[in-house]
Amino acid sequence: MASRWSLKDKRAIITGGTKGIGKAIADEFVLLGAEIFIVARNKAEVEDCVGNWRSEGFTAYGVSADISEAGERAKVISKVKNNWDKFDILINNAGTNIRKKTVEYSDEEYEIIFKTNLQSAFDMCKRSFPLLKKSGTASIINISSVAGLTHLKTGSPYGMTKAAMNQLSKNLAVEWAADGIRVNTIAPWYIETPLAKQVLSNQNYLDEVLSRTPMKRVGKPEEIAGLASFLCMPASSYITGQCIAVDGGFTALGF
Ligand code: NAP
Repeated sequence: MASRWSLKDKRAIITGGTKGIGKAIADEFVLLGAEIFIVARNKAEVEDCVGNWRSEGFTAYGVSADISEAGERAKVISKVKNNWDKFDILINNAGTNIRKKTVEYSDEEYEIIFKTNLQSAFDMCKRSFPLLKKSGTASIINISSVAGLTHLKTGSPYGMTKAAMNQLSKNLAVEWAADGIRVNTIAPWYIETPLAKQVLSNQNYLDEVLSRTPMKRVGKPEEIAGLASFLCMPASSYITGQCIAVDGGFTALGF
């Protein structure tokens, strides 16, 4: 029974593992028995996080890399291979946004959002496939957003990338089911992280967000980590191709 609710000896790559949602997932994974490998651009923060986990006795690795660049993604997989010949979990979490009206986006801004959120996730899945297949019981989680399910004030390119991540998970869930790889999506509504602080620090905006949230609060990073952990455990072994919103009731609210 205990092994169904554990990540013991699982090996997990988590992109964007130094802050916010990714950091909460990494913190929870090590407590549940997983070995982790994190990726973020800021080298000092990667080293700091890895050092802290190691000082607590956990097995953690990390590399500083810009996940939006193909060459950097190749570097990540090559570093992972220095430590592991296979792994069990890929969390595509790193993401970004530039909020504008659609007519104001430059081609460069559109490209940054697509490269960081979508192309990175697609390519990390591809590059990880042989090593995940060796696991036999692997799990991929794509962190999208409720912006991929309905209109939000995030700007259209962000919503487009997140909607595409939802579909990516469905396609891969079907394509890779026979390879023992489950693929699911978590779609958060507002979660208290450095990324969300940019807009939630505006009291009027926060009030508007809460007025659309039945639970009348924003989420905490560990509330995403809880679902991510479950979706990677043997306890969820028949769940694949799903997109689950973690949203305090936001997507259930009509009039
Ligand atoms: P965050 O607080 O800004 O943290 C982002 C993490 O990703 C950091 O570790 C950051 O480290 C890393 N990162 C960003 N760009 C990267 C890149 N190009 N290459 C490698 N690492 C990169 O963000 P968050 O709020 O936790 O968001 C995490 C994910 O959840 C995103 O995909 C976001 O779209 C999604 N989401 C968040 C919310 C929310 O309300 N917070 C809601 C819905 C969906 P470096 O800066 O050092 O690279």
